[in-house]
Amino acid sequence: MFFSKKTHPIWSTLIIGAGTIAASEVLWYFYNYVHDLLKWQQAQVHEVHMFNELGFECFQEHRAHSQRGKFFTCPNTHCTQRHIERIIELLARAKFSIDLAMYSLNSPEILLALGKALQRNVAIRLIVSQPVVTPINGNIFNLMRAGLKVRSQPFVGLMHHKFCVIDGRTRVDHIWSLKRRSYDPPATYSVVINGSVNWTQGGFGANWENLVITSHHRIASEFQAEFDRMWETFVGSD
Ligand SMILES: [Zn+2]
Repeated sequence: MFFSKKTHPIWSTLIIGAGTIAASEVLWYFYNYVHDLLKWQQAQVHEVHMFNELGFECFQEHRAHSQRGKFFTCPNTHCTQRHIERIIELLARAKFSIDLAMYSLNSPEILLALGKALQRNVAIRLIVSQPVVTPINGNIFNLMRAGLKVRSQPFVGLMHHKFCVIDGRTRVDHIWSLKRRSYDPPATYSVVINGSVNWTQGGFGANWENLVITSHHRIASEFQAEFDRMWETFVGSD
């Protein structure tokens, strides 16, 4: 009786304390699980964008306004400019890597977005069909001075791809391994942008094209693997 009267408050305190700590751990684990799940769900994108005559109508209006430094609020639901801005939005979200295989690339808006990504220390690799000394890709030189790595295919035939992998899983893991950190990289979500459209003024503004955007894990892995394979096969400037 004496023992229980003296120790009961201490044991109770210990049990309550241990229970509180355990409950906190469980709550913290649950919070992180839900938080990560919501972030993953928010990062999931599966979109199809069509470039067609319905989207061309307002395009010249957009270009005219942007040349005057003004934003044009567009009511056109098929707007070509919206498609371009969606690509730029995804490029702006890149944390670690952008791997771009593009037959031809000269869109000023895209080049500007890539330049901004380089300023954020995003590693950008570009594969083009022709060596960059050709006039069509001449404006890539400025980005190369800022850190862009470029390779082109040495064979007969065309590197006719038009795809982009943003924060591909294996690429992020490789970049992180070079940093030699003892902890895991922050959560990143791979996105693939692929389609018929060249990221050029002409490709965006005058042709009937398609663009598919997906965060599907397996599709992103397949595109990343082919990009890595081409990168190792092709000669480059780096
Ligand atoms: Zn528009």
